[in-house]
Amino acid sequence: MNSHHSSLSYLDPARAEPWASFIEQIDRVAPHLGPLSHWLETLKRPKRILVVDVPIIRDDGSIAHYEGYRVQHNLSRGPGKGGVRFHPAVTLNEVMALAGWMTIKNAALGLPFGGAKGGVRIDPRGFSRAELERITRRYTSEIGIVIGPDKDIPAPDVGTDQQTMAWMMDTYSVNVGHTASGVVTGKPVALGGSLGRHEATGRGVYIAAREAGARLGVPIDGARVVVQGFGNVGGIAARIFRENGAKVIALQDAEATIANPLGIDIPAALTHATAHGSLSGFFGAEPVSEDDFWQLECEYFVPAALEGQVTPERAHNLRTRIIVEGANGPTTPAADDILRQRNILVIPDVLANAGGVTVSYFEWVQDFSSFFWSEEEINARLESIMVKAFDAIWQLALEREVSIRTAAFIIACQRVLAAREQRGLYP
Ligand code: NAD
Repeated sequence: MNSHHSSLSYLDPARAEPWASFIEQIDRVAPHLGPLSHWLETLKRPKRILVVDVPIIRDDGSIAHYEGYRVQHNLSRGPGKGGVRFHPAVTLNEVMALAGWMTIKNAALGLPFGGAKGGVRIDPRGFSRAELERITRRYTSEIGIVIGPDKDIPAPDVGTDQQTMAWMMDTYSVNVGHTASGVVTGKPVALGGSLGRHEATGRGVYIAAREAGARLGVPIDGARVVVQGFGNVGGIAARIFRENGAKVIALQDAEATIANPLGIDIPAALTHATAHGSLSGFFGAEPVSEDDFWQLECEYFVPAALEGQVTPERAHNLRTRIIVEGANGPTTPAADDILRQRNILVIPDVLANAGGVTVSYFEWVQDFSSFFWSEEEINARLESIMVKAFDAIWQLALEREVSIRTAAFIIACQRVLAAREQRGLYP
């Protein structure tokens, strides 16, 4: 619907890019929105895009330039919210899609945020700590004109962590002349971070899996789990699956693909990955081929690395019952269709990995009130928000006979577009 309006000049329609997936997901919702579909075009255009040059002096004295982005996809329901990615393959197209998914995720969960995302096209492994600090600070300063506690609040994503957020918070604070802890979330607890935030995305992935499993009769206890990506999301999700009786039989990160049919010792794998920067060389499992990895028989498959991983070909080969999307955008729309035909349930990113932004919301609220909650309180509130959203989305999927993804998009688009309609168009 209205697709003839949607060709923006900075997009290359010839490439199967994440933004094209996002647009297709939006198009699939159009028939379910009634009169609100009148406003749908607003979601096919990011509200605001900032591309910045990030120059730094490298340790050897040379000057290097990197490209940075901050995209605010939609601000109808509140300030922008979404992570910052440091990765060599970051593009504007990718950041636009990631920002769009944040709009949907925040609305689907009922969090009072719009959607945003940022990134710098670098491989963080190729820089010293001091260089990373300079890149982070210069990037923060350059996007300082659009971020702020009541404007747009970044958080960690692939390649960034608590330390990155500490530098961002400090740089922004120095520039505005006072300590503004609420400008980013995912900070160290000592700087106004929230207990439970570091684990929140992985914990939410587990909660989503458990809720899906309960409805399909696939208990976590005793289930076989395969996880792609062993960072903040995949590593912690794997750990919590195992703590709840599941057997994690295979793992993949950027450098290694390993399997152990008896179940991998996740704490040992985490210790190895922390010490060596990768699973490569871990003795508690055997290397397996990429093809085998995507065909392992399991109950839960958790993509927790990057977009576009579950391709149509892999969707044909996968031998799992339930896919729980820890990553953003791991499944292409064509693969989604194949999985639905094959009766493999997909719990979509905008629901399954929303635990992170939910606790980021708690962090932001705590920073505003300068009153901090206990970890028990945070985990209990996370559980309650995730389960409530899961119930509502599941129920709608049954009523409308649509996928869980489409149901989540329907609920989210209704909220965003109703806000748009009520606010009206200025002027
Ligand atoms: P991270 O940097 O902590 O970890 C990423 C992991 O993916 C690493 O283990 C890396 O080796 C692996 N990886 C990278 N490229 C790969 C490839 N080609 N094949 C296999 N593995 C590969 O990042 P993260 O924070 O865990 O984010 C992972 C995904 O989860 C991203 O899609 C991100 O947008 C999403 N996500 C993150 C959060 C969060 O709170 N951190 C919240 C919601 C969604």
